[in-house]
Amino acid sequence: MSGTSRPSFYVTTPIYYVNDVLHIGHAYTTIIADILARAEKLMGKNVFFLTGTDEHGQKIEKAAAERGLKPKELADRVVGRVLDLWKALDISYDFFIRTTMPEHERGVQQLFSRLQEKGDIYKGEYKGWYCVSDENFLPEDVPLEKEGHKVCPDCGKNCIVVSEECYFFRLSAYQQPLLDHFAKNPAFVRPASRMNEVASFVRQGLKDLSITRTTVKWGIPVPGDPKHTIYVWFDALHNYLTGIGYGSDDQKFRTFWPATVHLMGKDILRFHAVFWPAFLLAGGFELPQTVFGHGWWLKDDTKMSKSKGNVLDPYQILRWFGPDPLRYFLVREVPIGLDGNFSHEAFLHRVNSDLANDLGNLIQRTLTMIGSYFQGAIADPGPEEPKDEALRLGFGAMKEKVEGLYADYALNKALEEIWAYISVVNKYLAENEPWKMAKRPEARPRLARVLFQAAAAIRGTSHILYPVMPSSMTKVWGFLGEARRPEEVPWADSQFESYRIGQKAAEPVPLFPRVALEDFLGEASVSDSPSRPAAPQPSIPKQAPAAKEKTMDIVTYEEFQKMDLRVARILKAEPVPGATKLLKLQVDLGTEQRTMVAGIAETYKPEDLVGKHLIVIANLKPATIRGVESQAMLLAAVSPEGRAIIPFFDRDVAPGAKVK
Ligand SMILES: [Zn+2]
Repeated sequence: MSGTSRPSFYVTTPIYYVNDVLHIGHAYTTIIADILARAEKLMGKNVFFLTGTDEHGQKIEKAAAERGLKPKELADRVVGRVLDLWKALDISYDFFIRTTMPEHERGVQQLFSRLQEKGDIYKGEYKGWYCVSDENFLPEDVPLEKEGHKVCPDCGKNCIVVSEECYFFRLSAYQQPLLDHFAKNPAFVRPASRMNEVASFVRQGLKDLSITRTTVKWGIPVPGDPKHTIYVWFDALHNYLTGIGYGSDDQKFRTFWPATVHLMGKDILRFHAVFWPAFLLAGGFELPQTVFGHGWWLKDDTKMSKSKGNVLDPYQILRWFGPDPLRYFLVREVPIGLDGNFSHEAFLHRVNSDLANDLGNLIQRTLTMIGSYFQGAIADPGPEEPKDEALRLGFGAMKEKVEGLYADYALNKALEEIWAYISVVNKYLAENEPWKMAKRPEARPRLARVLFQAAAAIRGTSHILYPVMPSSMTKVWGFLGEARRPEEVPWADSQFESYRIGQKAAEPVPLFPRVALEDFLGEASVSDSPSRPAAPQPSIPKQAPAAKEKTMDIVTYEEFQKMDLRVARILKAEPVPGATKLLKLQVDLGTEQRTMVAGIAETYKPEDLVGKHLIVIANLKPATIRGVESQAMLLAAVSPEGRAIIPFFDRDVAPGAKVK
């Protein structure tokens, strides 16, 4: 099969800004893209999956300067962390683009010149609200205050109106062409509900777009006029062209453009559905088939964001469960166009009920029976033993539906279909009771038939589930004695009857271990947020133990006196490797030094702490946190964003002084 004869499928995520903290929301977009890429690859398409990082702009420049780094050095560090996360989530991207790559920078300059020659980019004067302290223009959508001025969303200072020379993109010329395109291609914006929003925004009239700044230095210079820097969106969006070889690998570019689907959070849909196609029309490119604005994962009903301090760290889940349960939960729980509310209880419910019970037990039981009744290889039931057709027919029907649902980005519905089939297989085993047949020698052909049917159903189902849970389903194929990995078998070639009699099955190991809610939440509160709010969660599952009710206990004076509260002086503070929220402190207690670990890294930098006096509980039972024995605990208030605020003494106190 030659690479160019197959239909292509090109899927992208947005490039993530290196100044952001990656959370479940970023993981979500990337997981959806990965599932689609793997599914389309199985179905025989020539797939290209692009993700990457956006590394230019003032915020990066500033954040780097604060750390004494060059912007590129800061970006390099962050990119390392992004790549680690994608590895931990089993993301199979084909290329990771960074906007600081020379191929990208050259490509963007070429595209800029092309539009300039055409007259779609022209020099003018940009007038806008400007933050003197941050030296940058505010985004246009920052609202006016009652007093008639704007306030900087970054530093909170009042801003002034400034004008500067800049280059504009003639967006106004593309209002009608965009509306025409929307009318002819109703699936251009998905979900369909968002098409109306986008079209009505365009109908209200499009103003030309300023696409360069002289106040931003860290970015791609305008060709021939280097005091101007190309502004973030014009730079970033073109990664979708340069990432598949625009300006550097023409053959690859022609193979994969136009994109099949650009995926992104709904908050940046407008940039992708209006500005991006306008840039492309101006450049004479074909437009992507679909831009898909997926919903947000909310935490306690608010959007996760760094400034709110409510971001969910994917590693907290990965440490307990590995990638597959998280991948499964995120696409199973809600349709990708809608918002979902992330709760640890709902997550555990899915893992315990869908994965451990329905799927995990089916695999475990079936393989264990094949092992104990047939020494790992099912015998031929023989020609006399009638065939059961129900599971085979059910499989074919399910597979056909799932194929259409995967292709329509309806991942949650695809999983519903698959689980409906899994429950049919479970019912088949429950009704046939093979464990009873095993006691009757004359029932052996029937026993072989029943276990064969179940094993064939498991083999086929795990192939179909492979895009969602690649590492677990690869293990299942290993257990079943398949010589190949699921991704090596084309979708069309994997039938129910592809399972072979006599295939040697291995002893299975549990794929989805059960985790108790209390253990999981306990860990969540140590390493994730020091103040996990006791907000009511929408769905406390029946299977999982409910979190213990918090009651206010009365403490007697004698009990209080047992607590040894003391003043400690911080001698040393340093980050805990691999933990973003923890600091390791060395403190002086007057008569001795102690080591302690505290979840304060979001509020304090190590260098701010040395020499400060604070209160610790000196006789708390030591606990090992991230491999470090914490020999005391500090007292801190918890801000509404979940940050720890330490009460420091406002005058000198001797370390070791008792606090009562
Ligand atoms: Zn500011």
